[in-house]
Amino acid sequence: MDRTSQISEKPPLIDQFGRHITYLRLSVTDRCDLRCVYCMKARPEFLPKSELLTLEELTVLCDAFIARGVTKIRLTGGEPLVRKDVITLIENLGARIGKAGLKELCLTTNATQLPKYAERLASAGLRRLNVSLDSLDPDVFSRLTRGGKLDQTLDGIAAAKATGLHIKINAVALKGANDAHLPDLIHWAHGQGHDVSLIEVMPMGDIGVDRSVQFVSLLDLRREFERQWTLTDLPDNTGGPSAYVRVEETGGRLGFISPLTGNFCAGCNRVRLTCTGQLFMCLGKNGSVDLRGAIRDGGFEAVDALLDQAMAHKPLQHDFDVSPGAKPSVARDMARTGG
Ligand code: SAM
Ligand code: SF4
Repeated sequence: MDRTSQISEKPPLIDQFGRHITYLRLSVTDRCDLRCVYCMKARPEFLPKSELLTLEELTVLCDAFIARGVTKIRLTGGEPLVRKDVITLIENLGARIGKAGLKELCLTTNATQLPKYAERLASAGLRRLNVSLDSLDPDVFSRLTRGGKLDQTLDGIAAAKATGLHIKINAVALKGANDAHLPDLIHWAHGQGHDVSLIEVMPMGDIGVDRSVQFVSLLDLRREFERQWTLTDLPDNTGGPSAYVRVEETGGRLGFISPLTGNFCAGCNRVRLTCTGQLFMCLGKNGSVDLRGAIRDGGFEAVDALLDQAMAHKPLQHDFDVSPGAKPSVARDMARTGG
C-alpha cells in the first residue's frame, strides 16, 4: 500500500542550518560480491540477516520520507542487487514515481548483476544508474576489487545500455593504483555515451589502510587533465555533490566529487538509511536515529516524529582527515552506511 497519500501537507524536512532534505540514500544490504580495497576489509563481518529490515519495512520508511518532501531515492549498499528479492522493493518504489512527490529513483551498483536485472530496472521506472568501475585493466580491476572480473562488470554495463538506461561511471581515484589510467577510462566511457564522476577516497571504516597512501587530490588531477584536455565548467546539478565539466576533446561530461579538497556540505540535501534502519544524517559522523525501533513499536507516525528529531542532529559538515596516521572519521565502512 502506498501510504504517502494518507498524509497531506506534512512539513518538509529542514535541518538546523536551513538545508532542505530532499534526497534519501538507502543501503539495502551491507553485503557485496566484491571486496574493493578502499571500501571494506578482505574478510568483512557482515550483519546477521536477522537484523535487516524487511523489504516491506523499507518501503514504509521510504513512504515516510516521501511524505516529508523527499523527491529522490537512491538504492545502494553494499551491492544492492545481491539482496534477495530487492527487485520487488525497486518495483514498488518505482510505482511511486510521479505520485506523492517522488521524482526519481536511482541505483548505485557494481554492475555484476545487471545482465539479470537491467530490463526489470528500466521497466520499474529507473532512468539513471551509477556504476562503479575504477579501471579498464583486467589485472588492476581484479586487484582493486580483490578478485572481481572486469568482463562481468562490462557485460552488466552493456546490458544496462541496451535498455536505454543513462549510465554514470563512478571511479575512486587511488594513488599509484588507477590514477595514471583514469584518462583512458574517461575516454572509453565518453565514447560509450556515459558520464563519469571521479571520487576522492574518504576515510570511512577501520579497514586496515592508511588513507594517505590511497588519497589523490582531485584538484591536482584536474590540473593534470588540463595539460591534455580543455575542460569547460558546467552549471549542471543532478542533486548530488559532483561539480561537472565538459571535456571538449571527448564531448563527454566529467564530474569531480571532492569531499576533501572541495567541501560541498553547505549544499547537502541528503540523509542515509542503513538496511537495519539506522538513519545517519552525515556520511562522516556518528549521529544517528533508530527508525527500526520506531517502525516496529510505533509505526508510520512514530517514524514521522523521529524524522524531526533527526533534523535537529544533522551536523554542519564532516571533518574527513587523510593525513598520514590519521584515524578513520567513523568506524563503519562505506558499505554499511551506503555510498
Ligand atoms: N556496490 C555498489 C557500488 O560499488 O557501486 C554500491 C555501494 S558502494 C559503497 C557506493 C560507492 O561508494 C562506490 O562508487 C564506491 O566506489 C564508493 N566508495 C566506497 N568506499 C569509498 C571510500 N572509502 N571513499 C570514497 N568512495 C568510496
Ligand atoms: Fe562492494 Fe561497492 Fe564496496 Fe566495491 S565499493 S566492495 S562493489 S560495496
